Amino acid sequence: KLSKSLGQNFLIDGNIVRSIVEKGGITEKDFILEIGPGIGTLTEELSIKAKYVVGIELDEALLPILKETLRERKNVEIIHGDILKIDLEELFHKEFKGESIKIVANLPYYITTPIIGRLLEEELNIQGIIVMIQKEVARRMIAKTNSKDYSALSIFVQYYTDPEIILNVPRSVFLPKPKVDSSVIRLNLKNQKMKVENKEIFFKVVRSAFNQRRKTIQNSLSSKELNISKEKIKEILTLCNIDPQKRAENLTAEDFAKISSLFPPI
Ligand code: SAM
Repeated sequence: KLSKSLGQNFLIDGNIVRSIVEKGGITEKDFILEIGPGIGTLTEELSIKAKYVVGIELDEALLPILKETLRERKNVEIIHGDILKIDLEELFHKEFKGESIKIVANLPYYITTPIIGRLLEEELNIQGIIVMIQKEVARRMIAKTNSKDYSALSIFVQYYTDPEIILNVPRSVFLPKPKVDSSVIRLNLKNQKMKVENKEIFFKVVRSAFNQRRKTIQNSLSSKELNISKEKIKEILTLCNIDPQKRAENLTAEDFAKISSLFPPI
């Protein structure tokens, strides 16, 4: 019996599964953490290509199915657990012994973005994240300045990673068929991140600017949340050589980094 609340739509198309593993760039050197292996379709293919795979599955009812699907695979371990509650640092240490890993996930979409956020913020020893998400969210993650999909999420994801859409996936390859189309995105972690004075202030400024994306940058940053006067914002924008009439979508991450470095503590 499928659990709707756990967002269970299982991949049933072998070609798509092989394509995810191939375009995801999985090699025989890779240590993989798969979140939400489900009935193990992708897990099996991953274990054929990679060195070692650990899967974390929340739904106890799926464990016997996973055991059966993966009975011949010697390089797979399935853990019963909730990715939102697990101590990732401890898990990485115990299961991967300091190896750099790749994360693969096809999860319920309402937890996917928060999980990606957590994986990136905790700065764990990760090389890349290969994840299935709604097509629109994937577009936002890869969007560049001056495009309609450019958002706080674009800046967040591109601060930590170089994202790339590797596959568009029609809804027909899942059972049951979901209501949205999906994409698989690969987030390659950057070796060198952009220099930012204070990450917390930087992302706060970015979020405030895009929360009111139709306003000019001068007005969107004079919000209550940032607790700063319009005059001060004007002064900062002048110092940064940024036209106060521009909007959030016209500014690069570097512009936001400059602006936020001149902010008083929030
Ligand atoms: N990866 C499989 C596939 O592609 O066929 C299953 C995909 S299904 C959309 C999502 C899976 O994630 C389900 O098996 C579900 O039980 C599991 N899941 C949901 N929430 C989870 C959580 N918090 N921690 C671990 N697994 C979870």
